[in-house]
Amino acid sequence: MKYSIIDSHTHIYSYTDNELIEILQRSKSLGVNTVIDSAVDIKSAHRIDKLTKIHKNIYGGAGMHPQNLVSEINENEIRSLYELITNNKKFIVVSEIGLDFQDTSPDRNIQYNAFRKQIGIARELNKPIIFHSRLAIQETIKILKQERAFEVGGAMHYFQSNNEIAKQIIDLGFKISFGKPLLRNINLEKVVKNIPLNNIIVETDSAPQPFKKNRAKWTEPKDCKSIIEKIANIKALDECEVQNQIFKNTFKMLKNGSKWLNTNDFN
Ligand SMILES: [Zn+2]
Repeated sequence: MKYSIIDSHTHIYSYTDNELIEILQRSKSLGVNTVIDSAVDIKSAHRIDKLTKIHKNIYGGAGMHPQNLVSEINENEIRSLYELITNNKKFIVVSEIGLDFQDTSPDRNIQYNAFRKQIGIARELNKPIIFHSRLAIQETIKILKQERAFEVGGAMHYFQSNNEIAKQIIDLGFKISFGKPLLRNINLEKVVKNIPLNNIIVETDSAPQPFKKNRAKWTEPKDCKSIIEKIANIKALDECEVQNQIFKNTFKMLKNGSKWLNTNDFN
C-alpha cells in the first residue's frame, strides 16, 4: 500500500479560484492529495476558511506571519484566530507564526509577543504549530521552550539550517520540514542523512512566483514528489517506503487527524 503525500505548508490561497483547481489536479496526479494552506494574516485566514469548505483536499493553518505584523497583535486578531479555528475543523495547525530578524522585518518585541500569544492559542486549542525562523533560531528555541510549545508539537518549516540546529529542534519534539532547497543544497543533504526518517516531513511553501517567466517552473504542491524522491535517494531507501513514513510522520504530528478526518480522505 502506498499512502498519499501531504504538503504540510503552502500559501496557495494567493492563487485565483480557477488556478487553484488546476494546481490541485496537477498535485493529485503526482499523489499529493492533501495540502495545508497557511495564512499570513487575518484576511488570508478568512480566504483559507472559505477554500477549505470548497476543496476537499485543502486544509488550513491560521496564524500571523512575523513579517506581516504591522503593530502589536491585538485582541480582535486573537479572537478572529480563535473563532476561525474553533468553527472550522479543517484548520488543523496554527501557522504561519515565528520570528524573522531580517533588517526589513517588524520590531522584534512585536514579533516576540505575537509568537508567544499564538503559541498560547495553539496550546489552548491543542493544535500543532508550523513555525518560521529566519536569522532568529536561538530566540525561536528559547520561546518554544518558555511557552511550552512542545506540548502541541509541530514542525520547523522550510528548514535550511545545520545538523546541530536540527537536533535541537527534534529534541524539543518537533519535526523538520524540507522544501525544494533540499534539491540543490548539499548541506541540507547532510542533515537529511543524519536525522532519523521519522522526524522528516515535506512542504513546498508554494505561492505565485511571477518573477519566474516560465509558469511551468513555479513551485506547486506537486513538487513534494521530487522532494520525497530526493530524500529516498539521500538515505538510499525505497521511495515508496519513504513516502509512507513521511505520511505517517505528518499524520502523527497532526494528532492522527482526531476529530477532523478519517484516513479515507488521504486515498
Ligand atoms: Zn510560508
